[in-house]
Amino acid sequence: MNFHDILTRQQEFFTSQKTKNLKFRKIYLEKFKEVIIKNEDILYEAIYRDFGKSKFDTYTTEISFVLKDIDYYLKNLHSLAKPKRVRTNLANQLGSSKIHPEPLGCTLVIGAWNYPYQLSLSPVIAAIAAGNTCILKPSEVAENTMKAMAKIINENFPKEYLFVAEGGVEEITEILKLKFDKIFFTGSPKVGQIVYEAAAKHLTPVTLELGGKSPAVVTSSANFEVAAKRIVWGKFLNAGQTCVAPDYILVDEKVKDSFLDTLKSYIEKFNYQPDAAHYTRIINDRNFDRLLKLIDQEKVFYGGKSDASSKYIEPTLLHKVTWADAVMQEEIFGPILPVLTFKNFNEALLQIAKGEKPLSAYLFTNDSEEKEHFISKISFGGGCINDVVMHLSNDNLPFGGVGTSGIGNYHGKFGFDAFSHQKAILSRVTWGEPDLKYPPYSDKKLHWIKKLL
Ligand code: NAD
Repeated sequence: MNFHDILTRQQEFFTSQKTKNLKFRKIYLEKFKEVIIKNEDILYEAIYRDFGKSKFDTYTTEISFVLKDIDYYLKNLHSLAKPKRVRTNLANQLGSSKIHPEPLGCTLVIGAWNYPYQLSLSPVIAAIAAGNTCILKPSEVAENTMKAMAKIINENFPKEYLFVAEGGVEEITEILKLKFDKIFFTGSPKVGQIVYEAAAKHLTPVTLELGGKSPAVVTSSANFEVAAKRIVWGKFLNAGQTCVAPDYILVDEKVKDSFLDTLKSYIEKFNYQPDAAHYTRIINDRNFDRLLKLIDQEKVFYGGKSDASSKYIEPTLLHKVTWADAVMQEEIFGPILPVLTFKNFNEALLQIAKGEKPLSAYLFTNDSEEKEHFISKISFGGGCINDVVMHLSNDNLPFGGVGTSGIGNYHGKFGFDAFSHQKAILSRVTWGEPDLKYPPYSDKKLHWIKKLL
């Protein structure tokens, strides 16, 4: 069956109204949970084969997210889907006004490879919770995880409701020619642009979850132990192949030397040596070669070693880095951490503001004025003060970028809204209406209209 036929079947299924029923949605959310739990081992094995990701990391950064999302929607579905009453203005009295969230229809989710389960399945769960049908196209770059998701979903769900399309650029190009009611894409800004253009041909709304260079700023008032520990964890988790990982550090020049030593001590303590089973490998040779080119051996403060056969790159700290260096010209997306310095905090913020708007930004400080300046002076998707990465684990916060790091957001209520249309309904009574707005007009009517409006 080709993609066009699957979409046609999904359109017919959506038109049947079945997916709008809350009981139906709950049954399939429960089923989703059951399928994930039943096939957990298949999921662990596939991701390990793709890039050596440990069971611990797969559970904490992927499976647990997906299960948490399902539980969130099961618990909150009724309140998310119910019409919300809003105030009715004087001109529309006597009447009542409500916002009815309604599913958009047939949706397409395109996933990235670096957290293949979380980034593919979480939007799918939001899509079906909001009452849509869905086609998922996971990234072919993590081939085993793509196959695992296709197997467990296509064997357990009706195609006319939920379907996983396997394939690479050729297949996704075909899929993108079809008219969807919503496209949710996670990946690079470059491909995001291709997806946006394809969506524009059908005026299809999009959510684009993209990337960029996310800074971590460390000021002289920071708790260095906490800052180093958290930055090292967040940077080298998944071997730096995390969209919200701190891409580079901007540290106050006065404390640079001691901070570099503290970073190094945590890298050693967390043990990312080649025999460490908890340390993830680089996804493929192309990225491995790309990353090695970004390591200027003359600027290595720590690390720099690699092994091509196992696609291992040692956590690498670079110092004496300038804004003109190659490593500062693209999103690193690997275990290389350049450390730059600043003399003046506000100038550091201005330097960040000169570049593209980051997906995330982090500040380590104990100074409340610095916190305020950081939040108000630079634009970025979201971030943390005195931590990294963790903002995305709070479902009460929207997760998404701004500018080249993305359009729209999701997680929790925001995920439900990303796959819903907010239908506005004004409901009027059929009695008690003055004739003011109807012709023929008169000065007296205008007088009263002016008072009313
Ligand atoms: P990518 O853009 O190469 O691929 C993403 C998806 O696009 C894949 O499913 C792929 O099959 C598809 N694709 C590739 N070429 C295409 C084309 N020509 N036309 C249509 N679709 C195409 O990104 P990636 O390498 O999987 O992920 C890395 C990037 O994604 C980084 O920039 C990272 O920051 C970003 N990212 C963002 C988030 C987020 O939540 N904002 C999460 C993870 C990754």
